[in-house]
Amino acid sequence: MSFKNKKQNNLSRYRLPIKTAQLLGLTINKSNRYRLNKEQQEQLFNLDFQPIKRLFFDIETSPLKVWSWRIGYNINLQYDNIIEHQKVICISYLWESEDKIKRLTWDKNQCDKQMILDFVKIMSEADEIIAHNGDRYDIKKLRTRAIFHRIPMNAKYRSLDTLKKSKAGFSFPNNKLDSIAKYLGVGAKLEHEGFSMWVKCMAGDKQALKDMGTYCDMDIVVLSVVYFVIQNYIKNNTHVGVHNARLKASCPNCGSEDVVLLRNNFTALGTIKREMECNPCGYVYETSNSAWRNFLEFKQNKIIE
Ligand SMILES: [Zn+2]
Repeated sequence: MSFKNKKQNNLSRYRLPIKTAQLLGLTINKSNRYRLNKEQQEQLFNLDFQPIKRLFFDIETSPLKVWSWRIGYNINLQYDNIIEHQKVICISYLWESEDKIKRLTWDKNQCDKQMILDFVKIMSEADEIIAHNGDRYDIKKLRTRAIFHRIPMNAKYRSLDTLKKSKAGFSFPNNKLDSIAKYLGVGAKLEHEGFSMWVKCMAGDKQALKDMGTYCDMDIVVLSVVYFVIQNYIKNNTHVGVHNARLKASCPNCGSEDVVLLRNNFTALGTIKREMECNPCGYVYETSNSAWRNFLEFKQNKIIE
């Protein structure tokens, strides 16, 4: 994407490498997150820094409407029992650099075509999309509705699934977003009235649709805060340094080249891995030996200059 487009977006919050923040004359803080006014944003773009565009999102779907002879367990329903397919009711999303959560909903006829069309475009603008259980649920659901409407949509997205990350790296009492947020002490998801909210939504109740939207928005607040807390404890899916045209050995978390070698690790096959620590953000990561050597060479050349 060109810088021109980026300038048009109303961006305000960035995670910046310490040197970049210093160049902008900002007071350095621990989280490396800074709010920039328009003028500072201009300066940032002139520094050739391309902040990674992370998109947090969550969807709410309608249930499948079916004909059934009875209720209970072990019910055998066939395709012909379906009266109405599952649709997306609303999508809440937030750009990492913005404060305002945005929302799309199905139209007055409860058709999700326009919403999916709009959101697929938004997804394609993101460098990384983040959702809880997004890889197994949200992205697949969206793609299923996209193909239903014959809306073109990518086969793959650069995504980060906070559910996958929580399963892979932690042993929380429970991997629900709400439980993780409570465990980390960063709030909880909004309570809702339960299945009746979906029933009302499908009956066209405007207030219920609004309530569902608010519920979906709150999920995004929780999702983004949980992500910010776990960010330094999980493996990145996108290398922020390389994204910013920095060296491969730079910090994959914040993009800084102010990094130090902690120790050397040796794999079973005898490959050397360099364990690095980032000074500004404290992230510890491994890089390849060749990336490390490139980094050293680069630093030496810089000193000679
Ligand atoms: Zn870093």
